[in-house]
Amino acid sequence: MKDGLGRTIEYLRISLTDRCNFRCIYCMPEEGVCSLPHDEILRIEEMAHVVCIAADLGIKSVRLTGGEPLVRKGVVDLVREIANTPGIENVSMTTNGVLLPKMADDLKRAGLSRVNISLDTLDPDQFKYITRRGELQQTLDGIEAALQAGFDPVKINAVTVRSLNQDFLEFAKLSIDRPLHVRFIEYMPVGDTSVDAGTGWGKEDVIPSEELFDIINERAAAAGLPALRPAGATKPLGWGPARYFEFPDALGTVGFISPLSRHFCSECNRLRVTADGKVRPCLFSDTEYDARAALREGDDAAVRDVLLTALGANPSGHGHQPLDLLDAQDLVMGHRAHALLGHAVDAAEIAAIRQRYAQIIDSATMRIFQVNPS
Ligand code: SAM
Ligand code: SF4
Repeated sequence: MKDGLGRTIEYLRISLTDRCNFRCIYCMPEEGVCSLPHDEILRIEEMAHVVCIAADLGIKSVRLTGGEPLVRKGVVDLVREIANTPGIENVSMTTNGVLLPKMADDLKRAGLSRVNISLDTLDPDQFKYITRRGELQQTLDGIEAALQAGFDPVKINAVTVRSLNQDFLEFAKLSIDRPLHVRFIEYMPVGDTSVDAGTGWGKEDVIPSEELFDIINERAAAAGLPALRPAGATKPLGWGPARYFEFPDALGTVGFISPLSRHFCSECNRLRVTADGKVRPCLFSDTEYDARAALREGDDAAVRDVLLTALGANPSGHGHQPLDLLDAQDLVMGHRAHALLGHAVDAAEIAAIRQRYAQIIDSATMRIFQVNPS
């Protein structure tokens, strides 16, 4: 399945719930999100059915996320259903890991292919500060449970924030003795939780991956460790947009995911479905298309149409493919406007786009120019 920009879309990401057992300061307010009414959330069978239709259109990989996907009742059954869907080659999950000690074996048996566990710090107090209600040991136990259950690869997602002053070398070293794939993700200062309303973190808290790579190598040298080198045979499956490195003879890898400092929109191959059945072409786009009504009417053709429209691939759909961050940057900076949108762009349209993406574009362009002055 191709989208309006000619990208092959094979990856569907489904949010199973907006609820969570943590309240990470960069993700949710203390009181949690205002939960969607029960009947607005897609039922497990409805989620399985969307996957079926998407698989017919060429989706091969599905990632379950949230909120916290493991707090959703019926998640093991959903994994089984999806894993058994013709055309689906793998089902993965992003989780905070807390419920993995209870559920990892069942998930593995149900057909979950791989698991990403989010962990931003190895300091118990900082962990409590970030998650507001979690204990570091819970997530560490979750990682252990995932390894014991035989998941391969097990990836650790660590959001990097300058103000947090995390111990990046200790994190990277997790990849040496265990087959763990540590991925550092640039913090995205977006939404209600950033800046004044929440963490107080802003664009200066984004650590561009190139800078982080140098920090880790400097600290490794000071600790008498060799430098990271591009990953070879250990590069994990489902590598997505990360770039992977490894310490010599390590069992795992160290990856860098750079949503802000590096253009990977052209490599993006995913479509997103929210817990209430909205289809989103891009994480940075507010544009969404409702699949729930069609699903509930049993109208598969209409669901299919919603998926295709979201991709801008439907000839009857509108011609304005929602922009992602870096495309928007190109636009705002006056490059490729016509090619990106497929129509002439006037000043008012550029102003509207500039306003919508102001905060992210500002931080991203600043960083890109610092990292890559050319
Ligand atoms: N609850 C699950 C978890 O924490 O893994 C899945 C959902 S969570 C929203 C998915 C991922 O998004 C986590 O790895 C989290 O750290 C990351 N994330 C949330 N807000 C972010 C932000 N502002 N910048 C970068 N990553 C963020
Ligand atoms: Fe958000 Fe995941 Fe943290 Fe829950 S565990 S608050 S969904 S980042």
